[in-house]
Amino acid sequence: MTDVLAAFEAAKGFMPLDEGLALYAAARQAAAVLGLPLLEVGTYCGRSTLLLADAAAGAGTVAVTVDHHRGSEEQQPGWEYHDPTLVDPQTGRIDTLPVFRRTVYEAGLEEHVIAVVGRSPQVAKVWRQPLGLVFIDGGHTDEHASGDYQGWAPLVAEGGLLVIHDVFPDPADGGQAPYRIHQRALSSGVFTEVAVEGSLRVLRRSAGELVV
Ligand code: SAH
Ligand code: MG
Repeated sequence: MTDVLAAFEAAKGFMPLDEGLALYAAARQAAAVLGLPLLEVGTYCGRSTLLLADAAAGAGTVAVTVDHHRGSEEQQPGWEYHDPTLVDPQTGRIDTLPVFRRTVYEAGLEEHVIAVVGRSPQVAKVWRQPLGLVFIDGGHTDEHASGDYQGWAPLVAEGGLLVIHDVFPDPADGGQAPYRIHQRALSSGVFTEVAVEGSLRVLRRSAGELVV
């Protein structure tokens, strides 16, 4: 546990430790109870992936992480979260895949992670397996957040967890798209909030059909 948390803290990324601990706890619980894969939308450089991978490994399952690895809007050149070291000099485009691979390799978790390089809605369309946990931390526009919710929330198994990052009820604290899908999940009638840590929300799925 200390190893994976040290690797988490050393990895490039934006998630603070308190939220990481809440995600890790949710992941370990979901993996232990259901034994189903844990899926993340928004790999970036693998910081949060490490927590899902370690939790999955402990329960004999796997973490799946989805990203096109070209960065979100706010990570493009000239924007607040741009990191020039992540630009591929050959193409001039952001490419977080090499850093992600190094992060997971160095933490010794490679065999517990399946990385899918692609756009979240396209991947969701070809994915059929039920999931123990879905962690939504991808694009922050309404188009992307609602695409992630509609694509992946229905795949959370009964008793499984839906985790959403960057939920800011007050617009002064951040963009509202993740908050809006959080509200949608709560009003769906099949998700109940079980934990809150910073901007991280953990919801458990109960029985019943999810209409998205
Ligand atoms: N979970 C990471 C941070 C993710 S940042 C961590 O804790 O460190 C958001 C990521 O979502 C970016 O890497 C971006 O490329 C990816 N992303 C944004 N929109 C996407 C989409 N529609 N499909 C796939 N990935 C997307
Ligand atoms: Mg985030």
